Amino acid sequence: MTHTLLIENYIDGGWHRSAATVHADVVNPATVEVLARVPLSPTAEVNLAVEAAARAFPGWRRTPATERVQYLFKLRALLVENLDDLARTITLECGKTLDEARAEMRRAVENVEVACGIPILMQGYNSEDIASGIDETLIRQPVGVCAIIAPFNFPGMIPFWYLPYAIACGNTVLVKPSERVPLTMHKIAGLIAQTGLPSGVVNVVHGAKEAVDAILDHPAVRAVSMVGSTAVARYIYGRAAANGKRAQCQGGAKNLSVVLPDADMETTTRVLADSAFGSAGQRCLATSLAVAVGPARTPFTDAICEAASRRVVGYGLDAGVEMGPVISQQSKARIEGLIGQGMAEGARIAVDGRGATIAGYERGNFIRPTILTDVPVGSTAFKTEIFGPVLGMIYVETVEEALALVNNGEYGNMACLFTTSGAAARKFRYEADAGNIGINIGVAAPMAFFPFSGWKASFFGDLHGQGMDAVEFFTQKKVVVERWPKEWSRKF
Ligand code: NAD
Repeated sequence: MTHTLLIENYIDGGWHRSAATVHADVVNPATVEVLARVPLSPTAEVNLAVEAAARAFPGWRRTPATERVQYLFKLRALLVENLDDLARTITLECGKTLDEARAEMRRAVENVEVACGIPILMQGYNSEDIASGIDETLIRQPVGVCAIIAPFNFPGMIPFWYLPYAIACGNTVLVKPSERVPLTMHKIAGLIAQTGLPSGVVNVVHGAKEAVDAILDHPAVRAVSMVGSTAVARYIYGRAAANGKRAQCQGGAKNLSVVLPDADMETTTRVLADSAFGSAGQRCLATSLAVAVGPARTPFTDAICEAASRRVVGYGLDAGVEMGPVISQQSKARIEGLIGQGMAEGARIAVDGRGATIAGYERGNFIRPTILTDVPVGSTAFKTEIFGPVLGMIYVETVEEALALVNNGEYGNMACLFTTSGAAARKFRYEADAGNIGINIGVAAPMAFFPFSGWKASFFGDLHGQGMDAVEFFTQKKVVVERWPKEWSRKF
């Protein structure tokens, strides 16, 4: 008899079997094998974790920053030592290739490394004699219990946009991973336990909407960091803010990449194929629409269609595979439906990836790279985040028309330009209405020491994850004005 792993919550430094009455299957999207069962934890279990985090907070905030980062150094070493195992877990539950999963974990490690600089990063500043004998000082203090709510597409990296900074700054944390991919964070919780971090500083509770609502409504949770679809990000931001919490919520995207006729077609094609089809298009920084300007139309369309047809699709653990499956059967059906709808609304299908079957993995959620050309502006395929390996092509005559398409969209996560012209690059960088810009780069993912930006319907809040934004988000500023008249001092 096979035994299915029942995932436990990690609360107050120990493993807790959930009392949830509802569990969900964690399914390998390539083999559709059930890997584990995850509890959809009830409010009471979230409350337990929040209370543990609240109890741990006073001691943790009093622990000197130089000591707090020692746990991060240990965690970094453990993450690196276990990187291959964690990457394999990501591939198993999320579907991306092993190379993509390794790259994801390296990004997580990079965030731990940056957060190790917190003793200097969270320093305040002061001014002496703002008036005669009066000094003013700014101190950064932790905010308290912080919650992290993660999406399915980067189970290892996205919690690390926040977690290392939050604890380095002296906060305590509750992580709620995506219920579709809970295994990676479950393993990471095991590594966190090995660092000897004091109990309650990091807690992991699995669940779905009920768990999220419990987080949003608990008065002891002071800050909420969330990444997911725009509708949910908007909801979480609104409810967290209404309850007086600070919140940063990254939403969905519909990223455009513009190809000018002077672009290096070989590099552009390679980079844009990776952008559109990497992680099976399930990235908030995936190019969803390519806009070819003027004479770029034919050479770029021909080259990208060839690259799409050539991409090797299969099980992410198998050697040579360049693209894995999408996350679920529902997601596959939705994506294939959107391709059909795009055609019904006037787009032409140049490469059709629907109905894919992969030998040995016939039941997997595979879709091959798909290209729709002549996507009508304003159509469903133009507006909707497809979140699958589907690239839409649009043709315009000028860079101004391309910029208008970028800027009139609902989302503002990323926009890219491919050109050999410095002047065109500068104009695009200056005028494009998006938070992350790529110039001859197809996935403009900021390094850990820069904020992971995002504008318009791709982000709700003001401070982003990573870098100094994270330090600002996970600290509150206290300003002290002091008067110490000389005559009050004892004469020595
Ligand atoms: P999702 O919105 O379905 O879920 C995200 C999180 O919210 C999960 O933890 C989930 O349990 C929770 N949740 C879902 N529905 C909820 C509800 N009704 N009430 C309360 N909580 C709820 O997102 P997903 O499908 O897991 O992730 C894919 C989405 O995330 C895409 O739209 C993608 O663009 C976006 N994303 C954005 C970024 C970014 O930086 N902007 C990065 C990665 C992913």
